[in-house]
Amino acid sequence: MNEKNPSQKNDFIREIIRDDISENIHEKIVTRFPPEPNGYLHIGHAKSICLNFGVAEEFKGLCNLRFDDTNPTKEDQRYIDAIKFDVDWLGFNTENNIRYTSDYFGQLYDWAIELVNKGLAYVDDLSPEEMRAYRGTLTEPGVDSPTRNRSIAENLDLLERMKNGEYEEGEKSLRAKIDMQSGNLNLRDPVIYRIIRANHPRTKNDWCIYPMYDFGHGQSDAIEHVTHSLCTLEFEDHRPLYEWFLENLPIPSKPKQYEFSRLNLSHTILSKRRLFKLIEDGYVSGWNDPRMPTLAGLRRRGVPPTAIRDFVGRLGITKSDGIVEMSYFENTIREHLNLTAQRRMAVLNPIKIVIENYPEDPDFKDELEAINNPNNENDGIRKLLFSREIYIEHDDFMENPTKKFFRLIPGGEVRLRYAYLITCKELIKDKEGNIIELRCHYDPESRGGNAPDGRKVKGTLHWVSANYSKKATINLYNELFTEAIPGSNGNWIEDINNNSVESLSNCFVEPSILDSKPNTTIQFERLGYFCADIDSTKDNPIFNRTVPLRDTWGKKN
Ligand code: ATP
Ligand code: MG
Repeated sequence: MNEKNPSQKNDFIREIIRDDISENIHEKIVTRFPPEPNGYLHIGHAKSICLNFGVAEEFKGLCNLRFDDTNPTKEDQRYIDAIKFDVDWLGFNTENNIRYTSDYFGQLYDWAIELVNKGLAYVDDLSPEEMRAYRGTLTEPGVDSPTRNRSIAENLDLLERMKNGEYEEGEKSLRAKIDMQSGNLNLRDPVIYRIIRANHPRTKNDWCIYPMYDFGHGQSDAIEHVTHSLCTLEFEDHRPLYEWFLENLPIPSKPKQYEFSRLNLSHTILSKRRLFKLIEDGYVSGWNDPRMPTLAGLRRRGVPPTAIRDFVGRLGITKSDGIVEMSYFENTIREHLNLTAQRRMAVLNPIKIVIENYPEDPDFKDELEAINNPNNENDGIRKLLFSREIYIEHDDFMENPTKKFFRLIPGGEVRLRYAYLITCKELIKDKEGNIIELRCHYDPESRGGNAPDGRKVKGTLHWVSANYSKKATINLYNELFTEAIPGSNGNWIEDINNNSVESLSNCFVEPSILDSKPNTTIQFERLGYFCADIDSTKDNPIFNRTVPLRDTWGKKN
């Protein structure tokens, strides 16, 4: 936060921008978020989205959502659509500022010719494997390719023929002619164009050569008049190349690249390649599996977009790498939901109670009142129907109670939330000795939950009516990986948590839960926050646990 204006975000990027503005360097601040449409966005991307779009909003500038669609073998329209949807869902407007690197293929190709004409690029015959061998290592310089010194005329001809589809993939490539001895491997004659024979989602079969990331990125920034090209630290070593292209081409504007550290989150992975592997090998059901750290997965799980924005906002923007604990993210989610989520009752692992002294007349309607959200009066109250048979959580009863067990025990009295005080009179067991039912008595004078004589009753239990509740399946999610840093002791696949989901199919929920709007997360009292799954129907309701009510990480790990 800024000292002068506490509501203003502050970090080294915003400081640079404020300085640039005070020196009148730019007419308008322009940023971009440049995803490759080869997968769904994850929460790491949210950090970059919030920075790029956030900065544009704060400084009355512009942020483009630019698809870096330069590798058609991996990219798909489905991903383009999903990315747009996710950025909008996070709350950023992209309506008029969607761009594609493929929009600039013509211009980029002309610039490639320009480099050839300046003697700064050449067509190489080395195969990708040979090129790797010639490239050298961090400690050894590279070796010039035998075709490095072709004439400009020959290079122009070969490039044209590459473009016209006369060669196979890997047979030729266009390389920048920089310095095979450079200490920075990115400057050892990087490839700028390669041959790919694949149908591009937008340009179809117009091209069979595609610009590499490094050649497409900076020039696209320049075309879009991006002023601050904000990317993650792994691109720091690419900056000299980014600048080399800009210096050697007649670009319409001069963007500058700045790097910040990426978000790493414990007990999950933030790499599209690995997330893809989880899907491919069936560890999860898809990009939107509620265990995935993707925005689609988090949405399906019930995480509100405001919580994600808040979370990444609190982390700030720095240059130091670190790992953020998942529990910190979950606490932020809880904080949001505690204020916004309506309360309801549900029983996940039911045991039936029959209240013996309660009226047996099926037409007797006993309507109670319950508060929807103690943190928001405007959410009002709802009616709850009580009945002679109810369910409580199996865990809320103990036949031989431990000392500090204040819930239901034989002969003991508890409060049913918003309803009555009940006392346990009898246990019914099956042949194996499992308790299958409890017989209780209620105090009709305690309606609403208070003892008429002021006697103390410690425990308050949630419950649902056996007659008026609906049966539901409830999925409880646990961390996707058992290790904080998957793979830190070997193969990351081995750290997958085999118990990352527990599906309970005999749950009962208050009927009003089924009327809640889609994508609304509800607090099931005493249990946690839950959201209807996208596959949930009235006949077959399914809920996903977003987060438990309290932080349980300390206990588990
Ligand atoms: P992944 O490593 O998951 O495959 P990527 O970097 O290849 O991600 P891109 O689509 O190229 O995915 O990313 C678009 C933008 O998002 C880039 O500018 C990248 O720096 C940023 N980004 C990706 N992952 C993170 C992260 N974990 N934290 C912050 N920014 C990220
Ligand atoms: Mg990338």
